[in-house]
Amino acid sequence: MYSTMSLIGRVRIPVEGVAVLILMLFSCQSGTDKLYKESKIVMGTVVEITVACHSEEQARAAITEAMGEFQRIDNLMSSYKPDSVVSRVNKAGSSAKVPVGEEIFSVISEAAAIGRASGGAFDATIWPVSQLWGFEQGGRIPTPDSIATKLPLVGYENVIIDDSELSVGFKVAGMGLDLGAIAKGWAVDVAMKKLIARGIRNAIIDAGGDLRVIGARPGKAFWRIGVQHPRDPGALLMTFELKDTAIVTSGDYERFFMAAGVRYHHILDPATGQPARGCQSVTVLAPTAAEADACATAAFVLGPARGLAFLRARPGVRGVIVGAGGEVQWTDEALAVMARQ
Ligand code: AMP
Ligand code: MG
Repeated sequence: MYSTMSLIGRVRIPVEGVAVLILMLFSCQSGTDKLYKESKIVMGTVVEITVACHSEEQARAAITEAMGEFQRIDNLMSSYKPDSVVSRVNKAGSSAKVPVGEEIFSVISEAAAIGRASGGAFDATIWPVSQLWGFEQGGRIPTPDSIATKLPLVGYENVIIDDSELSVGFKVAGMGLDLGAIAKGWAVDVAMKKLIARGIRNAIIDAGGDLRVIGARPGKAFWRIGVQHPRDPGALLMTFELKDTAIVTSGDYERFFMAAGVRYHHILDPATGQPARGCQSVTVLAPTAAEADACATAAFVLGPARGLAFLRARPGVRGVIVGAGGEVQWTDEALAVMARQ
């Protein structure tokens, strides 16, 4: 197994597997609003919610409700939970379409759209191959034969999406869904809606690097968000001063193992069934965390040149790509100026 470190405040906290964006909180109070922060391990990562509020009671109630959304989404969308709706779809295989309800239907539709836009670099039907690698259990190198057998089952275009009955099925037996590259972002978005519905106007939700901010830190015009250095777990690559945006990082350091000096990580190229080799990390800013999450994974698989072109083509989306050799590239100069290194 592997572990990385996350810097939260100035305290180093060991995190199993995932730690991408680093939230920097240097004090707890400004004006009449105080900061309230809670964290919990859910969806295989540390979810941390920070809200600025004048009332502790209001803050705690809002955080509890928002936290509950992560568990709810995991119960619906995890391919690892045998009773989740996604697992039911996977078990039904090509034999039946399964009604999934509006929420999962939206996520699968968005995943399919990003699959198309990325030319298949993002593919939520990677499940037969991601299961072979087993990164959730620490990882192993699959045999070339097993990859050759499972790879033809990967293909988002073979998902049957029936919007008349909000059901989903597969054209080919043995296919399966893995929403691991978008579900966390989606959960961040729905959790943020809960905070807003409870009257919170200034907050950060960070699900192990899938992060969204609203408003600003008390006494400031922004939240300061750090992006982890992909090769130095204790260091920041850069920081941003952000308001009302999502910022999500996909990195080859989140879930990986080393074998014979080679890094094997969890972001797979659907064309080969192997870990994508073009990048160390991709950080995407977008209006929603679901879009940023899916786009970060897609751009990672596409590699720096095609990844930047893909991000630039999407309205409201910007990003930073660290290539395989550590070189940093930006979608636009203004973003580079905004970042402090
Ligand atoms: P992320 O950390 O958001 O980049 O998502 C990586 C996770 O998404 C992996 O752990 C897999 O569950 C899944 N995944 C891996 N490769 C892909 C891909 N090319 N397209 C969609 N999902 C993927
Ligand atoms: Mg992703």
